[in-house]
Amino acid sequence: KGPDPDLVAIAERMATVKHKILVLSGKGGVGKSTFSAQLSFALAAMDFQVGLLDIDICGPSIPKMLGLEGQEIHQSNLGWSPVYVESNLGVMSIGFMLPNPDEAVVWRGPRKNSLIKQFLKDVYWGELDFLVVDAPPGTSDEHISIVQYLNATGIDGAVIVTTPQQVSLIDVRKEVSFCKKVGVQVLGVVENMSGLSQPLIDFKFLRITEAGGERDVTEWVREYVKEKAPELLNVIACSEVFDTSSGGALKMCREMGVQFLGTVPLDPKLCKAAEEGRSCFIGENSGVSASALKKIIEKL
Ligand code: ADP
Repeated sequence: KGPDPDLVAIAERMATVKHKILVLSGKGGVGKSTFSAQLSFALAAMDFQVGLLDIDICGPSIPKMLGLEGQEIHQSNLGWSPVYVESNLGVMSIGFMLPNPDEAVVWRGPRKNSLIKQFLKDVYWGELDFLVVDAPPGTSDEHISIVQYLNATGIDGAVIVTTPQQVSLIDVRKEVSFCKKVGVQVLGVVENMSGLSQPLIDFKFLRITEAGGERDVTEWVREYVKEKAPELLNVIACSEVFDTSSGGALKMCREMGVQFLGTVPLDPKLCKAAEEGRSCFIGENSGVSASALKKIIEKL
């Protein structure tokens, strides 16, 4: 029996892709797709050639997060063409194939597997520096398929996204264990929605009296920190949200011997950028979340 022709075809397609990164999470709603989208925007802004493959077949949110809703895939003699945000950022998702975005995709494992195989075999990415794969939450059919099909071509590793709560962290342990079992390196863990980028309480009503008159407390604290410890400015911009479990991901990473990549605060600017399908790194939209994401991406 000769080699599996599908695996041969996948290896040929992947021969022009330098790095492959999986983005995983144990639970849904922790910001995995947001991270995949912003990672792809950031790599493209660094002039890399980037492909973003969405294999969250039952809940594809990548088209919206990249501002590509309503777009369709085209076919050429080279294969399926990704939908391009820019000339160096191409996207492939089942979301582009659904006639109606409200329609549920009710597929069993084998059908999902065959679509993933087809994505890997038939999409013409051309030369890529990075292929970012946004997986669904958990460790199910899609994960087994992507690893099975890509492992022989070399996966750089997986980034696992979590929130600080215990319920999410428990599932991260499962993701780490999955990666170990299937031989995929864990590049690191990102703690998303870790603190708030803006205080929930408006401290403006708290005034302090100084020689020069009254001042608002927030402004006073900022000035004090700026003078005494400027590196803390980002920290005071973030207040705790999930106070029972702050630092949980860092602790878990130490226990499991995997790298902790950093934290991203809960930030309305990042949420808005994701809703509008934009990068949070540019212009007025950059902020605490963008600088946190930058630090994480530098470590990858
Ligand atoms: P997942 O892919 O893990 O299911 P999403 O990336 O779809 O999660 O994120 C869920 C929602 O949370 C989205 O509306 C997204 O914009 C928002 N979100 C994710 N991370 C942040 C953050 N750090 N600050 C604010 N909103 C966020």
